[in-house]
Amino acid sequence: MEKVLRICVATNNDHKMSELRAIFKDYSVELFSLKDLNIDVNPDENGKTYAENAFIKASAVAKFTNLPVLSDDSGIEIDALGENVPGIYSHRYAVENGGQEKVNKMLTEKCADSKAHFTSHFVLLNLTPNSRHDFEGVVNGKIAGEVNGQGGFGYDPIFIPEGYNVTIAAISADEKNHISHRYRASIALLNFLKNEKYI
Ligand code: IMP
Repeated sequence: MEKVLRICVATNNDHKMSELRAIFKDYSVELFSLKDLNIDVNPDENGKTYAENAFIKASAVAKFTNLPVLSDDSGIEIDALGENVPGIYSHRYAVENGGQEKVNKMLTEKCADSKAHFTSHFVLLNLTPNSRHDFEGVVNGKIAGEVNGQGGFGYDPIFIPEGYNVTIAAISADEKNHISHRYRASIALLNFLKNEKYI
């Protein structure tokens, strides 16, 4: 019988959850969302790095389940705004500057053509009791001159990945899920799980 690894994903972000489900669909891994497991936690992400915030989320959720817990902390860094900005504050930056739509428009005016990259940091807890494994994915690109595309979420309508001339929001979900920072972190995790014979 096929071995299936069951993992709880510590996120309340439906976009992240559906991207992860799509990325993991061909592997012997079953992902459960917090909603699936009736877990309601919203820890204060007060870390200083993606890794610290991912650990905060995963460890808060791990108190409520015996499954291994995976969390993804991610963000965009835009060179024209300064080092690591907005980075771990990507969500807050949009909220504090009038919402995602307004911020995206402002960034295309202020930062067009600036180099930028997305990072996704995964922390997987309790694959074996009390274990922690970290994985990271990055996608490089630049900021578009105008907001474009209907797909994805967050900063996707203003981010043009390297090798493309349209934003991530203008390519298909399937294509995003084969080039994104989240895809790259997922492949690092899946390779580890295969090498260690968990799947
Ligand atoms: P987190 O839930 O603290 O990891 O928030 C990450 C924030 O970074 C999101 O709210 C988005 O603003 C941004 N972000 C992360 N990943 C993506 C992505 O794949 N596309 C667009 N924006 C993203």
